[in-house]
Amino acid sequence: MPPRRSLVKKEESVDLFLAFDDGIDWSQVSETQFDAQPDAQLQTQSQTQVETQTTLIGGRSVAKLPRSFASPPARTISAESGSSTQTNDSVKTLVVDDEDVDYKALLEGAENIDWDNWDTDDDNDIITTPRKLKSPSKSKKFTPVKPKNLRGIAGDFQKVIVEVAETEERRIVVLRDVWSDTLLEKGDVVNIIGDWDGSITGTPSITISSKENLLIHHPDYLISATTLSDSAVCPRRPLISNLVRSTSNTRPSSLWGHILHEVVESCLSENRWDQKYIDDEIEEVIQGSLLDLLRIEKTIEEATEEVKNRASGLKEFSKRYIGKTPKPDAGVDVARAKNNERSLVAISQVLDVEEEIWSPAHGLKGKLDASITAVIESQEAPVSDRGQVKKKTFSGPMPFEIKTGDERYRGIQYRAQTMLYTLLMSERYGYQVDEGLLYYTQSEEPIKVTPSRNEIQALIVARNDIVYHMAKKAKDLTKKVEVCKFEPTTEHLPDVIEDERTCSMCYGLDTCMLYRKAVERVEDTTSPIHGLYEKKTGHLTESQCEFFRKWEALISLEEQDLYRFKKELWTMGAEEREAHGRCFSSMIMDESYKPIKPELNDPGKIHSFSYRFTKRDFHLPMLSKSGFQASDSLLNGHMSVGDAIAVSVEPDLLAIAKGYITGLTPEEVTIGVDHKLDPQDLADRTRLRSGGKALYDDVVEFRIDKDELSTGLARMRYNLAALFYAEGDARLLELIVDLRPPVFNTQYDELLDSPHQAPALLEISKPLNSSQRLAMERVLDAEDYALVLGMPGTGKTTVIVALIKTLVNLGKTVFLTSYTHSAVDNILLKLKVDADFGILRIGNLDKIHPDVVCYTLSAMGTATTMEQLEHQVMTPPVVAGTCLSTDQKAGLEVSLFRLLSEKHEDHVVDLTHQYRMNEDIMHLSNTLIYKGRLVCGSEEVAKRCLEIPSHQFIDDIHLKPDDKCDRVSCWLEYLLSPSAKAVFVDTDQVPGYDTRVGDLVQNQVEAELVYQFAETLIGCGIREEQIGVVTLYRQQIKLLSHLLIDRKGIEILTADRSQGRDKDCIIISMVRSNIEGQIGDLMKDWRRLNVSLTRARSKLVIIGSRKTLQGDELLGKFFGIMDEKKWVLALEKDAHRVHPSLSSKKPNRPFKRAVGDISPTRSPENTPRRPSKKSKVANFSDQGGLLKGRNLLRDLINDST
Ligand code: SF4
Ligand SMILES: [Zn+2]
Repeated sequence: MPPRRSLVKKEESVDLFLAFDDGIDWSQVSETQFDAQPDAQLQTQSQTQVETQTTLIGGRSVAKLPRSFASPPARTISAESGSSTQTNDSVKTLVVDDEDVDYKALLEGAENIDWDNWDTDDDNDIITTPRKLKSPSKSKKFTPVKPKNLRGIAGDFQKVIVEVAETEERRIVVLRDVWSDTLLEKGDVVNIIGDWDGSITGTPSITISSKENLLIHHPDYLISATTLSDSAVCPRRPLISNLVRSTSNTRPSSLWGHILHEVVESCLSENRWDQKYIDDEIEEVIQGSLLDLLRIEKTIEEATEEVKNRASGLKEFSKRYIGKTPKPDAGVDVARAKNNERSLVAISQVLDVEEEIWSPAHGLKGKLDASITAVIESQEAPVSDRGQVKKKTFSGPMPFEIKTGDERYRGIQYRAQTMLYTLLMSERYGYQVDEGLLYYTQSEEPIKVTPSRNEIQALIVARNDIVYHMAKKAKDLTKKVEVCKFEPTTEHLPDVIEDERTCSMCYGLDTCMLYRKAVERVEDTTSPIHGLYEKKTGHLTESQCEFFRKWEALISLEEQDLYRFKKELWTMGAEEREAHGRCFSSMIMDESYKPIKPELNDPGKIHSFSYRFTKRDFHLPMLSKSGFQASDSLLNGHMSVGDAIAVSVEPDLLAIAKGYITGLTPEEVTIGVDHKLDPQDLADRTRLRSGGKALYDDVVEFRIDKDELSTGLARMRYNLAALFYAEGDARLLELIVDLRPPVFNTQYDELLDSPHQAPALLEISKPLNSSQRLAMERVLDAEDYALVLGMPGTGKTTVIVALIKTLVNLGKTVFLTSYTHSAVDNILLKLKVDADFGILRIGNLDKIHPDVVCYTLSAMGTATTMEQLEHQVMTPPVVAGTCLSTDQKAGLEVSLFRLLSEKHEDHVVDLTHQYRMNEDIMHLSNTLIYKGRLVCGSEEVAKRCLEIPSHQFIDDIHLKPDDKCDRVSCWLEYLLSPSAKAVFVDTDQVPGYDTRVGDLVQNQVEAELVYQFAETLIGCGIREEQIGVVTLYRQQIKLLSHLLIDRKGIEILTADRSQGRDKDCIIISMVRSNIEGQIGDLMKDWRRLNVSLTRARSKLVIIGSRKTLQGDELLGKFFGIMDEKKWVLALEKDAHRVHPSLSSKKPNRPFKRAVGDISPTRSPENTPRRPSKKSKVANFSDQGGLLKGRNLLRDLINDST
């Protein structure tokens, strides 16, 4: 019998390599050496050979290799390709024919696959246990690869010199056979899995060939197994489906499958298979899927019948297959089994369900339906009557993949998926996993999938091909500074397969053809799919294509950033990432923690399990290896409650659970996650992975990483692409892309003429001013759309509320949306007062304002019948939710509003009367931004000020024995004065420098000043609810929240979150204060600053360093106004210490000075400025707005209301 082949070789090792430049004296090396390998032959090289070699290396440019994507899985290197310059016969063996590649077999059917069956040597009744991986992957692979270390590749398509990431040691990789046209470029990162048993001129070498070893190109791209298995049909499809993710189109069969899937997983994890349990589960899962049922218009009864039908074999399955040892009737389908051979299987243990495994070693990831321990018994009947039955039993972990419905036509894909899961499981569990089980719920027997070397190789080669295209696009995008000039190339996607039958049935057809036309600009009148192509794209004009191309590139650019953060999870050590504020390292589970809410105990669901962690050695300041000194407060950093996280145990157990942060204090973090975390079990696994060495002698250390959700942009791309599909909305395409002018009718006038409608309309619009009424009119008359521009405080909310009421009165339905939850909820809060119609608020419960939670589905009580649900969902005339937004970059900030309003300026209605800010506060943004177009809605608004109910508090402070204030120049009293309506408080003399926590900025002196002023306001009788604190820096928010922890009524907001809000008094902390005059990017974000400035009704206090800020052009103009108006208060030295009784430095305020603070020394200036009497006369300057003519304007106006 042939010895059993193994996928992973005995001495397997995994290292991260960095391809780099030249280091070998290539003139010394010849082709023959790669075959023969003996160093001794070196001395005998002839001159001819040396020359040949030189040519070969001279032609290293990978671009020279012709590459046929048309039939990519089978890689054929013809004699004309790169190998043509070679004279050595041994090199010619590089020519690979299709027949040699099993990938083809994989494509066409399992029949041709050379299955590696059980080895059936003569040993009888041997029980094999799974082999441990001999030398599992080293932690090296998580080492970040910093660009500065990249030295690039030298090499050609056969030989590559690489550099070990950590040691910079150089080695040689020889690529043969199907691997030889791997498109490696200088600087690419590769992972080599295999034996380094060769040597070329004394340099360690490895040969990657069809027989042995694997090369993973760009291992930092984790390709999902499902995606990759899709490439078996078409190499272009995985990339297409990655780009664009549609949300709609649930098909009944896939919903039934989804429900059954969940039921089977529950049965497995609970190990309960009685009919009652199965039925109960079906009922429960269907209950949870009512919305989906509504979408596909099916009833609960229909669903129950369908799913029960499909589940009918489950009980029988469990009887046969669940147990400690295989039962006689527990056969397993083994492809190409010999006639006299039979295998039986038992599922003896379920290790996990819905286990997500990331494998940076293989550049793969996947979610396994179930990870099980299986016992497999194989029997070989005797050849003759007198022979013995040969029996072998094996027990070990393997993936169990469940497929519902009759989807056998996708058998090859499913098989490939199962094969990939064996690799993932090997990596996660530390055992050599050679088999997987694939179970079609419609069939009798599960199938045993045993991948061969050829199959794994073919899948990895296909994976490398996918990431080649992804990385190519990423590189091209980052090279282009201006996206608009970005010219996409066909290299970003493999060519279409031009197979009419496959393409016409492909779910990605619309997107695929759209990219071919708009992005790749292919002309096709002759190929077998030219008819399809024409049908799908014939309607598109060149300018429409250009629109798509441009926005597609912008989305992709945005995606690069998200992706960069995401991959830090597996390329960056915990401590280093922590220094950037995106990770908690060395976290210890607090096993005494009992969650308040009962756990769902439902693996796979977010928030099923809840845990609390503290930092190891919390109270000891830690010096991290990366050189950053981290403060020990968990509040330092970018991680906050509500953030998505992934939990890992270094070095190997990556993202073992995912979920959200549910609580955060300086000492502890509480999380809700989708998988159980058992420290003991995890310690065992890491021990197994490290070859028996206990990595954690006492307690397991976890790392908790901020996770980036990445599906958002694929959805966004879908929304874009859907406009251009042949079956898309032609009217939207016309209006948005072709910018056809909107059409208006005269409905408003008609309503006013109608005796039935007029009274209600007049009633609703009675409180509106002239510009607000005009806005109403435009909206009611609009056949397509209307644009209403609302500057801050101009009553946009009021208009919207009036509009919604009117529209509902007219029997229309309304979808209310905005980029922020607070904007949506503000309107709902107003509607709530007197709306007598139904409202449905959709969105994440945690983010919805508590007073409008009553409009959510969950508040309405879980519907148990379709009728109830239909009533809940379909009857409210108003549905409200947020829409997707992203950070703005490189043009993505061009909102739809701006796009349309710039084109059709005449159709925009301005709201100009504002009712929020007094005239001093309004003066600031009116001059800076709005070209003086804003006016105060009334005299009362213009003269509004913050009256102080009592001065007792401030008097008492000054009577305290330790008080150092002379009261003449008291900064607090100055700020309290009702006439101080807009003040810049300059801290330059104090001084109050900003400090860093990792890469985050905070300002402790400013926080202290904010605290003292807020406390004074409250002491003098101002209510907490009247005060708002705004800052652009997240770290400052945390600092302030901590100081003001007992003042729950004071809202502390980022500029974004302050949108749509107003307060009588707003205190802004500018944070940036340093000798270098660094104001950072955030402060340059004028849009955010403007939002902050326009939140205040009666008093606006801005605290900051004038010296630092005034260097910026726009802020310079801001100071121009403040000086002109004499609205600057220069604080004296140590102003935050003159009223000691107000100090925040009381016990229980453990905020330490962050280690790593910068404490620059400089001589304080000796010319403290006195607060000057400010001018009472508001000067409505007629100077043009600062941003006059800037494109930003429209969005600014729109955003800041
Ligand atoms: S339409 Fe054809 S070429 Fe395009 S992704 Fe689908 S199968 Fe591949
Ligand atoms: Zn004072």
